[in-house]
Amino acid sequence: MKKDASIKKTDMEKLFHEFKNAWVDLSDNDRESTFKMAGEYKKFLDAGKTERECVSEIVTMAKENGFKNIEDLIAIKKPLKEGMKIYASYKGKTAALFVIGKESIEKGMNIVGSHIDSPRLDLKASPLYEDAELALLKTHYYGGIKKYQWAAIPLSMHGVIVKKDGSKTSITIGEDDDDPVFVVSDILPHLGKEQAAKKMSEGFTGEQLNVIIGNIPLKDKKVKEHIKLNILNILKEKYNIEEIDFVSAEIEIVPAGKARDAGLDRSLILAYGHDDRVCAFPSLKVIFEIEHPQKMAVALFTDKEEIGSVGNTGMCSAFFDNTVAELIALEKQGYNELFLRRALAQSKVLSADVNAGFDPSFPEVFDKRNSSYIGKGIILTKFTGSRGKSGANDAHAEFVGEIKNLFTANKIVWQASELGKVDAGGGGTIAYILANKGADVIDCGIAVLNMHAPFELISKVDLFMTYKAYKAFLQG
Ligand SMILES: [Zn+2]
Repeated sequence: MKKDASIKKTDMEKLFHEFKNAWVDLSDNDRESTFKMAGEYKKFLDAGKTERECVSEIVTMAKENGFKNIEDLIAIKKPLKEGMKIYASYKGKTAALFVIGKESIEKGMNIVGSHIDSPRLDLKASPLYEDAELALLKTHYYGGIKKYQWAAIPLSMHGVIVKKDGSKTSITIGEDDDDPVFVVSDILPHLGKEQAAKKMSEGFTGEQLNVIIGNIPLKDKKVKEHIKLNILNILKEKYNIEEIDFVSAEIEIVPAGKARDAGLDRSLILAYGHDDRVCAFPSLKVIFEIEHPQKMAVALFTDKEEIGSVGNTGMCSAFFDNTVAELIALEKQGYNELFLRRALAQSKVLSADVNAGFDPSFPEVFDKRNSSYIGKGIILTKFTGSRGKSGANDAHAEFVGEIKNLFTANKIVWQASELGKVDAGGGGTIAYILANKGADVIDCGIAVLNMHAPFELISKVDLFMTYKAYKAFLQG
């Protein structure tokens, strides 16, 4: 090659690509929006610490934003019109919001799918017992946790109890400043020599995750378990519930306290349940702002992701397919399964879930060149899975190219990563489930530190970029 035909040095540098920090080029306006959105998000987190509370919050907000209940439309066989806003929820634990597009549903949908369940401690069916002058509750943890992290921190209690007469009582204890909190005890270091010598995964067992809930015995009663009885007495007085009612209860023990700004520059949020409400919230905010999309826009909020997307409210259930089938029946004023199959196969999906951000204190489990970073914007994860991509939805290059170009065209700061080093472990999301039906799916969410710990950490700028990204995608 002749010298004058060679590439100039400045052009040569353009051949490199480095993902950049999203704060750097953020305009003053966007900086303001970032902090404002973070405030709204913190309120959403505080209002929804369980999947039930999240769905209730989502449905309330949907109604306020003009979304109609699909059940009401089905009852009157209301024909669908472009621009209509509709919501559906199931068993109070999963929900989907739709904005009807200009094109027919069978031409495909644009879907952002997140999950609203988070790791926690669930009460067992017969949880209450007394031991060593304490009343305690037995728990069974839900999702992947490092058990020792849940001891010696303030915990709150959220859930529902279905009583003998069939009525349902909701409870939330431990969130108001005046409320009592609960705690799982840990052994003191002075006597913890044996515990410390164990493997970390064995130092705290599932059967040690017992929640302390009382110490005062019932007065003037010569009964065997007088402290337990006092607790039962309080439960009867305050909530009219009895020991047998725990069998038909769903009580979730979660970290007590509100979402908080973190860092002296207030750039971060420390909170319980970022995984995956940090993706659910921007998709919810976006679906409220979408008007007249080309294809039907969908914000989907699923349950049970942390335990394999099972059950009738998880992504493997018929809920979403059934709901889209109902919409097709309203659109066509009749139904043929082929329309549903076409709709699913021609859909595009962002599987909106968190990714493990690079942790400078644990660099050994990450590939620095292929990790996501806190503050570098929304993440495109072509594939998840573990050890040889096992269980992964591997997005096609064509679809990755399309999304990458969409984000770049909309000035969205994004990064590409996978979850940790090849042999370090791995994980999965709901991506493969919709891919099984023919849809193009890519994992696309936010970097989190301390994932699955009682308090997780995210950057506000990543939340803002994710909002912008989901908006560009759903508007179609
Ligand atoms: Zn998740």
